[in-house]
Amino acid sequence: MSLDGKRKAILRIQSALLYKIREFFYSRKFYELMPVLLSKCTDPLMPDSNGSIVKVGEIEYLGERYKLTQSMILHKQFAVSNGLDKVVVFSPNIRLERPERSSTGRHLFEFTQVDFEVAHARKEDIFRLVEDLIKEVWGWISRVCRDEFGLLNRRIRIPTSPLKVYTSHDLMERYGKDWEIKASLAEKHPFWVLCFRREFYDREDPARPGHFLNYDLIYPEGYGEALSGGERETDIDKIRKRLKEIGKEKEYQEYLDLMEGKLIPSAGGGFGVERMLRYLVGAKHIREVRLFPRVPGERIIL
Ligand code: AMP
Ligand code: MG
Repeated sequence: MSLDGKRKAILRIQSALLYKIREFFYSRKFYELMPVLLSKCTDPLMPDSNGSIVKVGEIEYLGERYKLTQSMILHKQFAVSNGLDKVVVFSPNIRLERPERSSTGRHLFEFTQVDFEVAHARKEDIFRLVEDLIKEVWGWISRVCRDEFGLLNRRIRIPTSPLKVYTSHDLMERYGKDWEIKASLAEKHPFWVLCFRREFYDREDPARPGHFLNYDLIYPEGYGEALSGGERETDIDKIRKRLKEIGKEKEYQEYLDLMEGKLIPSAGGGFGVERMLRYLVGAKHIREVRLFPRVPGERIIL
């Protein structure tokens, strides 16, 4: 069985997308790091690490246990704190999602994130960077892949900057707890959402305790979350306290010792390649954009 024209068109668009994203970061003088798949600790994915995933993947090697990367946030922070002012990684993430998540159309248990971080940046700097990426990369792709988009009967809308900004509290009030998809269905262009109580490494707004300087980007047309990111906490005592609250201080002890006195302010984010491709080509399920899809609960041969 060979691939049909639509599958080939999607893979052609993926090739263009990866090529142009890489050029975008290279032209802005980002250092591209190689991905890391095994570490002693990884992103805990709060607040729902125990809710959405079955477990954190681990392997044992020479008497040591290594976690499979859920995201490279800790490596990015190490890199920027050690003098690499802008970093990007095309980073495979393993998240052993619960089988129920196969029906969302946007969850895989192995996917690739474009994960980037900028030293001394604020959230507005990241908004402009991502908006430039969207305009440049999507604009270019829509031209060079005109035939492929024609075959898929899809036209990309290129938004203008700045994108709309909401807070998670506003959206929760307007749409209830399923705000992500409801708000996504109501919009024509991607939009930013501010302020989530979530990761131990996110920076609390010093002017408004209980509010966080983090954000998501959401695709329109019901495609949901595109990117998550934030300004990072540099106060190691606050970080320790938060880890203690979630019972994970011991797990991160070596990381905390390594970073003590070294963390510098930074901001960044990460977006899933497959989710961006899914939105661009208008695929109903994320499985359609991967040749070897890892859909939670589905059997894999290759
Ligand atoms: P997170 O750190 O969970 O916010 O993930 C960063 C980005 O990776 C998200 O905004 C999505 O674009 C993508 N992503 C996260 N989880 C998955 C998943 N299970 N399958 C596919 N893409 C994902
Ligand atoms: Mg997220």
